[in-house]
Amino acid sequence: MEESHRPPERDIEITNVETMAIAGNFTWGIVKVETDAGVYGLGETFRAEAALDMAERLLVDLEGENPLDIDRITALMNQRYTGSGRVGQSAFTGIETACWDIKGKLLDAPLYELLGGKYRDRVRIYCDTHGGESLGQAPDRDPKEVYTPESYAQAAREVVDEGFEALKFDLDVPTHDPDTAARRLDNASVEHKVSLVEAVREEIGYDIDLGMDLHWNFTVETAARIGKKLEPYDLAWLEDPVPPEQVEAHRHLRETLDVPILTGENVTTASRFADLANTGAMDIAAPDVNKCGGLWELWKVALVCDLEGIPLSPHNISSPLGTVAGAHVCATFPNFLSLEFHARDVPWWGDLVRRVDDPDAPILNEGYIDLPEGPGLGVELDPEVAERYLTDGSDLVV
Ligand code: MG
Repeated sequence: MEESHRPPERDIEITNVETMAIAGNFTWGIVKVETDAGVYGLGETFRAEAALDMAERLLVDLEGENPLDIDRITALMNQRYTGSGRVGQSAFTGIETACWDIKGKLLDAPLYELLGGKYRDRVRIYCDTHGGESLGQAPDRDPKEVYTPESYAQAAREVVDEGFEALKFDLDVPTHDPDTAARRLDNASVEHKVSLVEAVREEIGYDIDLGMDLHWNFTVETAARIGKKLEPYDLAWLEDPVPPEQVEAHRHLRETLDVPILTGENVTTASRFADLANTGAMDIAAPDVNKCGGLWELWKVALVCDLEGIPLSPHNISSPLGTVAGAHVCATFPNFLSLEFHARDVPWWGDLVRRVDDPDAPILNEGYIDLPEGPGLGVELDPEVAERYLTDGSDLVV
């Protein structure tokens, strides 16, 4: 008789939800879901402060539920907290990711295997990159002397030398325009932005994917002027040029500019992404890994975008735990470009977790994540590192 690979007992229950917050460059929210089967799972929320509180309160709804019925759990949370927005979807994502981790551990299978198998063994990472020192450290300095073409070129060179094939800069840095509320830039400011991009391209050439983020800050007219002048630099994308609710403005820019428009980091659930994809408002979708509603929801976002021929470069500012969770999903859908890494300024980022299959192997290796082969997420938190960087008032849960 063939050996059965089913878990010995499927009828298991969620018994507890605990959380902790780690002070990285953002507050990383870690969610632990415990079961009566002797295993627990971990997940991560976007911007921990509010989402962790909600995740813990969800125990009222989840105690006794079966963590293996993941879609049912997500539906239950959405039903009970309809319209809870980004904080709610972040909390749901932390819980849902932990349930996937539990399922993987019980079935002894890596997460990518549970999500349908993989299109790729390595997941391409793009590096969020900052030119110039932080203005926050020297608030009286002239931003024009901080955000210089030289500083952008130098940062790009360092990131490319680390092995990244894709990177992104903030291009909405305040330099010339005191009245940011007006959302219109004068010509000098636009030219300054162009000089930053030109310097980066001169330094790293055109074979590196290069995105530029505008953080919703401009009028459609200003965004169009910036975009038009950036056309010669073959950007991988121009990100969030105008406020997110201005769907017509996105569509106008997409139709008139020879630069791909990327958006979506604050959009949650596949249903909303389907609306965006169908209105022709974006070339590339950027759902946030730990905010969009869950890992399975991220997979559904990829599906609805694929139906319109739209690829994904998911937004991600998380710890290595959430990043690895995102990498597993990104391996399993076809229309993938790159996944964000936003913690270049955190030297201990990679020390926070260990790969179960190869504890000495780095999480991020020359611009790629090699998918962990251990069960579930395939990584475990290092309790000593986690404890060292807990936020005030947070207790270690692993
Ligand atoms: Mg962005």
